[in-house]
Amino acid sequence: FSSRLEREKEVNVQVLLRCRPLSEEEQKSNVPRVISCNELRKEVSVANKQVDRLFTFDKVFGPKAQQRSIYDQAIAPIVHEVLEGFSCTVFAYGQTGTGKTYTMEGGMRKKGGDLPAEAGVIPRAVRHIFETLESQKADYSMKVTFLELYNEEVTDLLAQEDSSSRSSSEDKQKKPVSLMEDGKGCVVLRGLEEEVVYRANDIYALLERGSSKRRTADTLLNKRSSRSHSVFTITVHIKEESMGDEELIKCGKLNLVDLAGSENILRSGSRDGRAREAGEINKSLLTLGRVINALVEHSSHIPYRDSKLTRLLRDSLGGKTKTCIIATISPSAHSLEETLSTLDYAYRAK
Ligand code: ADP
Ligand code: MG
Repeated sequence: FSSRLEREKEVNVQVLLRCRPLSEEEQKSNVPRVISCNELRKEVSVANKQVDRLFTFDKVFGPKAQQRSIYDQAIAPIVHEVLEGFSCTVFAYGQTGTGKTYTMEGGMRKKGGDLPAEAGVIPRAVRHIFETLESQKADYSMKVTFLELYNEEVTDLLAQEDSSSRSSSEDKQKKPVSLMEDGKGCVVLRGLEEEVVYRANDIYALLERGSSKRRTADTLLNKRSSRSHSVFTITVHIKEESMGDEELIKCGKLNLVDLAGSENILRSGSRDGRAREAGEINKSLLTLGRVINALVEHSSHIPYRDSKLTRLLRDSLGGKTKTCIIATISPSAHSLEETLSTLDYAYRAK
């Protein structure tokens, strides 16, 4: 009994840091770098004339880190848990333009062929699950859902457009999804389409369908600033060796979450209508931070109910689940303030 309790008390939150390379434009305009990463010591230092700080994480990936090594070192162990029947969640957290979507989705596949080197966590996880289960000759099925959380509203990114109601308005193309709880406290998303995936390659069509629907809005800071959270969920059902007449099904779940940009709303020049929107985004981000802190500190009250994002992920956060936060930053001096705020948020989650 006590060992089960120990297992439940384990902290299963891992925090990684990834710093993207300077972009070509940043290189051309000689933007100074303020970040240096020491992957072996798992340290990130932020230094210029005013600031000199050092942060330690569970893993650190510098600008040269390949998509593949992030997957192999950080995500593959989580996928093993999923294949054992656990629920796990990976978050990408950071300022817009620091590589959240690159890390989660990565470069799209060219026609035919294998995964490109730039493939991110989602396609790699799908391929990994397929390859493992195929090699075990397992009897299994894999389903995915892809949803967006915007202004505390959930919409389905995979819902097929209904041609009869085709409209120029973005909102009409999106099917609302309602978040409910069943009698046992489990989350139910009514109206969310589940797609069965038959081959690893199917994932690209789904990703493209979903990503093109992701809502973006103009702000002064960044025209393509992403103001919504997206949650890509893979569910696998695996039939276990049957014992007599009984059939055992193992069910594992992996949530891959591309969070909204963490930038300060005041600096982005958001006003009026946008201010509420930004407030709601921050509500989910702030609540996520609080939930993770409460989990790390084994607090008796975990404030899942305070935001849609945390309600949505409730059964995949805490307990025996594994959680991984990938905090993404830019090396540039121009992002110094945002970078420090990301490092602080991520460090608190440790
Ligand atoms: P976000 O989703 O956080 O707003 P993106 O993933 O869209 O940021 O990344 C912004 C730009 O930087 C994209 O052009 C992307 O391809 C590039 N980028 C991000 N991270 C890396 C990386 N580690 N290596 C190479 N290019 C990257
Ligand atoms: Mg993005």
